[in-house]
Amino acid sequence: MVGVPILDTQNNWIGTLAVAVPLTIISAKLAEIKLAKESYAWLTDSNGLMVSHPNKSFIMKNKLSMTESADYPGFYKIVRQTKLQNDGYGRYRDAKLNESKIVTFSKVDYLPGWTLFVTTKESEIFHAIYTIMYDVLVTSIILMVIFLLLISELSNRITKPIVQLTKDVKASVKDKKSYLKIIDSDDEIGQLSKAFHDSLQKIHLHTIHLEQMVNHRTQEITDKNLLLNQQNEKLEQLASKDPLTLLYNRRAFSALVDKEISRAKRHHFPVTLVILDIDYFKKINDEFGHNVGDDILCRFADELSINMRKENLICRWGGEEFVILIPEATSAMVFKHIEELRQKISQMDFAPIDKLTFSAGMATLRIEEPFKEWFQRADSALYKAKGSGRNKIVVDDIIG
Ligand code: GH3
Ligand code: MG
Ligand code: MG
Repeated sequence: MVGVPILDTQNNWIGTLAVAVPLTIISAKLAEIKLAKESYAWLTDSNGLMVSHPNKSFIMKNKLSMTESADYPGFYKIVRQTKLQNDGYGRYRDAKLNESKIVTFSKVDYLPGWTLFVTTKESEIFHAIYTIMYDVLVTSIILMVIFLLLISELSNRITKPIVQLTKDVKASVKDKKSYLKIIDSDDEIGQLSKAFHDSLQKIHLHTIHLEQMVNHRTQEITDKNLLLNQQNEKLEQLASKDPLTLLYNRRAFSALVDKEISRAKRHHFPVTLVILDIDYFKKINDEFGHNVGDDILCRFADELSINMRKENLICRWGGEEFVILIPEATSAMVFKHIEELRQKISQMDFAPIDKLTFSAGMATLRIEEPFKEWFQRADSALYKAKGSGRNKIVVDDIIG
């Protein structure tokens, strides 16, 4: 029975409204409260007496105990909690069923001390959790498989062709000979590959054209360089040679002399200088004319060239004066040779003139002597040859 006091506006008691509810009805109502399939609700009053319970034999008989029980180990802890909290939960063991159970409790409003309990099998709760977890796992696996299939499909349809296209384009750019394969599909990748293929082919054709142009131009430049070199050589010859006798001129000779002096010093060999001057040349010009004079000069020059070794430097110093540099020879050796030449020329036919002679002076290079002084000594010797009757050779100092 539940009684509710009735008060007036001044809070004075007027009477009490009491309602008697059969316990069977409470039990039936509570049976509707379920947390799981096999869970059940039950009620205790302020004395801990079971007012409602699915097990009818407990009703109004069993009481909550604050001490440990052999049948329900751990339950007393939940009972203690109900003294301290309005609601909570706990776990105990049902020794008879050999099963763990979870109990939630909550104090009932308007019924001080009354407590509503809901008991649920722990396995049932976990079974639900396991079911949910299993469902989540299965769903995840299915999603994962779908995702992987999607990725693989995407990779096959997009990524792989793009990677292949990139590789092919790189290879084609690197190696001009390998052509890009067109990917046979109507999508963007197919179009892209065709565009690349066409572009690369155009570039290839342009490159060939450019290479041909470059080769052509290179050939032209090579030919022109060859011509230029030939002309330069000719120019060099013209610049270094005397145009009448084709012997070295003074400028070229001076340059070559320096090299010969250095070489002689380096290898310690003698080098001799001969200055030859045609005797009475003025007379030839005067008697036969300048052209005959030129002709005689040429024939004399040829004779010098014929009778001298290749390594000797022969130069037309000016007018009818010639200079010969003879390396690796002492003045004694040279004298013999020039003397033979003098005799030969004096006996040669130089028509229209009767006889052609020359005078010569020579000197062998001294250690550390400058060219000017060396030349001066040879020239003085020539002067002596001229002074002592011409058609003679004078040596500055005989070195054997
Ligand atoms: P010497 O015995 O003392 O040497 O008497 P030479 O007449 O030979 O000497 P000289 O120096 O008096 O005269 C040289 C002449 O050579 C004068 C010049 O007209 C002539 N001559 C110089 N160069 C040329 C040339 O290139 N061609 C011709 N035909 N004559 C030249
Ligand atoms: Mg002369
Ligand atoms: Mg002279």
